[in-house]
Amino acid sequence: MSAAPTGTITNPFSLPDSEGYTWLKGNLHSHTTNSDGQPSPQERLDGYVGQGYDYLCLSDHHEITRIDTVQAPDDFVLVQGAELHPDNPFGGQRHHFVCLNLSEDMDAEKMPPQHVIDEVNRQGGAVFLAHPHWSSINVMRDVLPLTGFAGIEVFNTTCRCAGRGESSVHWDDWMQQQNRLYPALANDDSHALESARRDTYQGWTWVRVKERTGAAIVAALAAGASYASTGPEIRDIQIRCSDREGDEKTPCEATVACSPAQRIAAISDSTGTEYHQHGELFETATFPLRANSRWVRFEIVDQRGLKAWSNPFDLTGLARA
Ligand SMILES: [Zn+2]
Ligand SMILES: [Zn+2]
Repeated sequence: MSAAPTGTITNPFSLPDSEGYTWLKGNLHSHTTNSDGQPSPQERLDGYVGQGYDYLCLSDHHEITRIDTVQAPDDFVLVQGAELHPDNPFGGQRHHFVCLNLSEDMDAEKMPPQHVIDEVNRQGGAVFLAHPHWSSINVMRDVLPLTGFAGIEVFNTTCRCAGRGESSVHWDDWMQQQNRLYPALANDDSHALESARRDTYQGWTWVRVKERTGAAIVAALAAGASYASTGPEIRDIQIRCSDREGDEKTPCEATVACSPAQRIAAISDSTGTEYHQHGELFETATFPLRANSRWVRFEIVDQRGLKAWSNPFDLTGLARA
């Protein structure tokens, strides 16, 4: 049995409605006239409200856009945060960190990245590594020396315009190198007006929470009780193991249920991923889980090529051990 990964992920599909859990849809990365975005903070907020989102972070560069400077509907949640840019002393490009649930500004550009992460965590916030593919981040060089991240942005709409929207290779590499599970976000990183139809409303994260507050949302995201999407809906993921003792031939299996998909892939840390693709659309798939895998995550691709990404599941503590 391989060493269990660190980092605990909560399966959002195991949190029942009967206990008051609900799904909220949101975008945690957007810009306004307070930095290099085109709409004002209120216009940015109104746009996401109008599109049926439940939560939003106005994550302007360098400085917090205060959530009490805009007016949101009562049931809409504003997560206060900023995109901070500490130096990268390891040789790569300057860092981009989406920092959530922040209360105090800091001079991040003059701070080493570890100090920024530590300060965000001290404030009760969470740091997500933003668009590492676009930033030409090398995980071994630029990220592994740092600790205290909450997770990674696996998809970024603005970066997709530049051909580097998806960072799943960085995600897998990071988890593999560090043997730690990280949850992922899909974000717009919206800068333009929505009329440009370029970088708004195309990447979002569904989070499973009991309370409609910024703190509850960020805590659930950091715990992995969420999934990221550009289109498909994930309806359920469950992992089951045979309870027959010593039965080597009955591995654990995972069942995924989702909106109509053309492909569902089970991507694990060990070599060889599994996928289902039948030529017709389908809504459920079951995967045998490899005995030597430490974790597995799932990707759903719909008819239009749009994707959803589950968070990773720890396989090392399963009953088969
Ligand atoms: Zn950025
Ligand atoms: Zn940004």
